[in-house]
Amino acid sequence: AIARTVWRKKIPHHVCRMSYSSTVPTTKLFIDGKFVDSQTSEWLEIHNPATNEVISRVPKATQAEMLAAADSCSRAYASWSETSVLSRQQIFLRYQQLIKDNIKELAKSITLEQGKTLADAEGDVFRGLQVVEHCCSITSLMLGETLPSITKDMDTYTYRLPIGVCAGIAPFNFPAMIPLWMFPMGMVCGNTYLMKPSERVPGCTMLLARLLQDAGAPDGTLNIIHGQHDAVNFICEHPSIKAISFVGSNQAGEYIYEQGSKNGKRVQSNMGAKNHGVVMPDANKENTLNQLVGAAFGAAGQRCMALSTAILVGESRDWLPELVDRARNLRVNAGDQPGADVGPLISPEAKTRVNGLIQSGVDEGAKLLLDGRSVRVKGYENGNFVGPTILGNVTTDMKCYTEEIFGPVLVVLEAESLDEAISMVNNNPYGNGTAIFTTNGATARKYTNEVDVGQIGVNVPIPVPLPMFSFTGSRGSFRGDTNFYGKQGIQFYTQIKTITSQWKAEDATLKTPAVTMPT
Ligand code: NAD
Repeated sequence: AIARTVWRKKIPHHVCRMSYSSTVPTTKLFIDGKFVDSQTSEWLEIHNPATNEVISRVPKATQAEMLAAADSCSRAYASWSETSVLSRQQIFLRYQQLIKDNIKELAKSITLEQGKTLADAEGDVFRGLQVVEHCCSITSLMLGETLPSITKDMDTYTYRLPIGVCAGIAPFNFPAMIPLWMFPMGMVCGNTYLMKPSERVPGCTMLLARLLQDAGAPDGTLNIIHGQHDAVNFICEHPSIKAISFVGSNQAGEYIYEQGSKNGKRVQSNMGAKNHGVVMPDANKENTLNQLVGAAFGAAGQRCMALSTAILVGESRDWLPELVDRARNLRVNAGDQPGADVGPLISPEAKTRVNGLIQSGVDEGAKLLLDGRSVRVKGYENGNFVGPTILGNVTTDMKCYTEEIFGPVLVVLEAESLDEAISMVNNNPYGNGTAIFTTNGATARKYTNEVDVGQIGVNVPIPVPLPMFSFTGSRGSFRGDTNFYGKQGIQFYTQIKTITSQWKAEDATLKTPAVTMPT
């Protein structure tokens, strides 16, 4: 009976936000298994991006609170790392079911804080859930290697073991998926985890923490702190933290990679992007245009795998008017409104930045084919909305091409040949994702062989790999040497112990010391 209540438990509404000396709810810290109010005097406001109303406040955790969280992780590590792999697997089996049971509640929290449409928010949870499901295969994923009889009576075998306290620093754009790339993978390997969600969207991580507790994760195995630079520096410097997983901008990611590495930690750092979609004239037109529009403007372009740049090769340049028509038909609205395709940007600052980059394109000679800057959403006049925008005649020296826009803006370039398109992609400093649209296998093969990008789609606009593979952004989009989730994720969160043992029969006992290297 107990198992069933845990199994089917829904998140109580009051769990992670409680009134705290003001009418605006506050986000709690999660320390040593308790959701606690911060004693800080520094708070950040969280706004609903569709209205800009303040919906809650998030604390900048104090040094004492961050220390308490890290100490809790260290204490819990002693027993959690010794927990049987089967017990950890059982917890994550329960966890994946609890996430499924609460997917709508989690999505609502994402739409409220981040702005994306409810359907897209469910996708955000779902793609994170798949990582949790993958964690349930830990009994196979953590297998070591053996080689018997490497010499007489001698065998060598390896154990894959946890590394200690690990930490995650997350961005605002996937409030469920990206934290779920982090702490479940780290914890199922036997590590304890200190999580710092994005200070702009902390609510979903708090709900996920509650569900993990309900699934049976012992106190201290996951701790959550909030904040900005101080929290990031704390993570980069605390001696108990052995590994840092970061996802976010290059400015933060390069800093965290350097600071963390300097302090002897493993760091994997997924960063910015400028993903190109190369359209060949032989592509399936209908399919390609719909995929391009979906991948450029979905989530208001706030995806690191958004196809933000199109290269129209040869005659496919004639498709541009139809591309513009399809983009114009997308409905811009608050994320919780029925039929919304494109929600608001995260903040007024993001809107100003995106509008500025659109203007820079115009000033530098690009052709504004669709201008979303003056979009008005009835009933949501204060929201951070920018409608789908398309800039044509873009060249590689323009600021709208060289900078990541991270908004609903598609910049369109033209190329005479596949070779020219490939060289544009390879000359761009980012290497996160790209896609080619073609019906010719040889063209696709040449493209996948020659582009220097981590994740490539062939007629797949957003080729984010499922968790049995790894998320493999490269070049300017990644620092580190082992990527997120999949086999590489397990490698990142584990270390290898190699045992060489000899069991000799009595009559084979050494008669003299062996002073030379064994050969
Ligand atoms: P961000 O870098 O502003 O914030 C990410 C995290 O870093 C937050 O937790 C924040 O508190 C912290 N942070 C912010 N500025 C910092 C600084 N100067 N020093 C130290 N820490 C800092 O990123 P964001 O705006 O939340 O997310 C958008 C960015 O993330 C885009 O560039 C996008 O491409 C990238 N992103 C990449 C991937 C990927 O897998 N490659 C996935 C999602 C998002």
